[in-house]
Amino acid sequence: MSVGLTIGRYQPFHNGHLSVVKEISERVDEIVVCIGSAQVSHELDDPFTAGERMAMIQRALLENGVEKFFYIMPVEDIQRNAAWVSHVESLTPPFDEVYSHNPLVIRLFREAGYEVHGAPLYRREEHSGTEIRRRMLEGEKWRHLVPKEVAETVEEVDGVDRLRDLAVEDAPT
Ligand code: NAD
Repeated sequence: MSVGLTIGRYQPFHNGHLSVVKEISERVDEIVVCIGSAQVSHELDDPFTAGERMAMIQRALLENGVEKFFYIMPVEDIQRNAAWVSHVESLTPPFDEVYSHNPLVIRLFREAGYEVHGAPLYRREEHSGTEIRRRMLEGEKWRHLVPKEVAETVEEVDGVDRLRDLAVEDAPT
């Protein structure tokens, strides 16, 4: 049985991330989706908690035709890149191959002996966490860039207002 792992911050999980998971599901028997930087939330570049990201991803995968068994695992960052793959391995089910476009992630998994693939990029110019957070902050349209279940989760946790509050330098008291 083959198991494919992918990792991202998923701030938030968008249609590009979903297309990667769908691509992986065509190629392996089980998928491990790791939520990276799991310790970070309530920051402008990382507004959502690991639990909120887990809810977004689980709901989106269940409702969008990902039929393979999947695990969603939070992974906190560590200070030592050289030990990071071992750290990931200590938290996840065993896996055989990795899917990423992130140069550091690719380098670290290849050095540890894993085969690393890059699933095709899906309309990267607008399907990026940075662009979606910018649109949320500026009051522009963003819901069409994420699965419906992700937009619902963002709304449930008041995510857009949270992001706007984080952008205020000195909140009135
Ligand atoms: P991300 O959410 O930006 O992206 C996740 C993956 O989706 C990436 O491979 C990205 O290229 C891909 N992707 C993004 N947009 C896409 C699109 N439109 N179409 C198709 N694919 C698309 O997350 P990331 O920054 O790659 O996450 C890596 C995580 O690993 C981070 O949390 C980082 O902190 C962690 N990390 C930690 C250490 C450490 O702790 N020492 C070391 C390396 C990496």
